[in-house]
Amino acid sequence: MNVTGFARRAGWARGEAAEKMADTQSARRVGKHWLRTAVAGLLLNAALLFLAVNMGISAQTVLRPRSDHFDGERFFNPAIHGHERGFVDLLKWASKRRPPHWRERTDVQPGPPPARHAAPGVLRATFINHATVLVQMDGLNILTDPIWSDRASPVSWAGPQRVHPPGIRFEDLPPIDVVLLSHNHYDHMDVPTLRRLNSVHHPRFFTGLGNRAYLERRRIQRVTEMDWWDEVPLGDGHSIVFTPAQHFSTRDAIDHDRTLWGGFFVKGPAGALFFGGDTGYAWHFREVRKRLGAPRLALLPIGAYEPRWIMSQVHMNPADAVRAAGDLETPVSMGIHFGTFQLADDAQDQPPRDLRRALAAANLPADRFWVLAPGESRDAPAVAAAAASDKAAANR
Ligand SMILES: [Zn+2]
Repeated sequence: MNVTGFARRAGWARGEAAEKMADTQSARRVGKHWLRTAVAGLLLNAALLFLAVNMGISAQTVLRPRSDHFDGERFFNPAIHGHERGFVDLLKWASKRRPPHWRERTDVQPGPPPARHAAPGVLRATFINHATVLVQMDGLNILTDPIWSDRASPVSWAGPQRVHPPGIRFEDLPPIDVVLLSHNHYDHMDVPTLRRLNSVHHPRFFTGLGNRAYLERRRIQRVTEMDWWDEVPLGDGHSIVFTPAQHFSTRDAIDHDRTLWGGFFVKGPAGALFFGGDTGYAWHFREVRKRLGAPRLALLPIGAYEPRWIMSQVHMNPADAVRAAGDLETPVSMGIHFGTFQLADDAQDQPPRDLRRALAAANLPADRFWVLAPGESRDAPAVAAAAASDKAAANR
């Protein structure tokens, strides 16, 4: 490991810490925090390296063939050519940051308990919070990136704190069969929630390469890890494909990009669901459409995208998401990854506002891209109905 490589890896890990501490701190406090984080990061690096070498638990011990997104040691984004944003960029951002103020927590009432199952042919989505959606399709109940914790953080006493409660109470969940985990960032892979799901619902967990050992060490069972384009049949006509995304992974000071990120395409008799995970706009949406067909419903991230100079590689803005929906040729999309945790510099109400603007600019009706309140459910239109509504919109 050379010095540059080390700095880059450690830097991204600290970058994740910066993403987590996104709050209403002043620039001076941010500077102090970074100093403390840098020192703590170095100590943590030393301790973790010692553990990894001595206990043989490092992800480096897993041998995997190289591929177009794996260099033998770390995963990478095939379409980022040139300068990938790193530690220096994050420092620059953190030192000049003036994050907009988000309102304090609002205690909205949770939504009604969802039905046990959706009727045959129905594809229903219930927005819970952040990237967490309950999808019910043909007897199958799926949760995406479930987080019920108060903070998206490795610790319970610091890090981005939710500004509203989950839209559905954990106790009100119907039986969960499948959990889709897009990658290992703390706002997507929330171990306390996963352990609770594991013990109450015993679902199957699907995630990217490299995450299984980590989850199993935390007593989360039935984990299947997948490479991009792997497909796993589930029975009853359903199957799951892990699809590419443009992002990165990190959980601690030494594991940068050692586990794979991605999205999911779930095929079933009620049509297909696409869950985009956490991603910048890139080539992969078109490729998903080409290889797997148009999904009946796409869950696409629309938040945590400012400032663009640093966020655009890894987070879409609403205009990107509308473009991605076009690439997928999906009749209807639903916004996720906004409004629950302040992770970047977009204002609290900015994603839905920018989304309305992006839809208008693309001449698309607002019902092509849903923004649901936490706890709200909606059924994807039948594919023929969606085509008719488009025709009607075109004639208006
Ligand atoms: Zn992420």
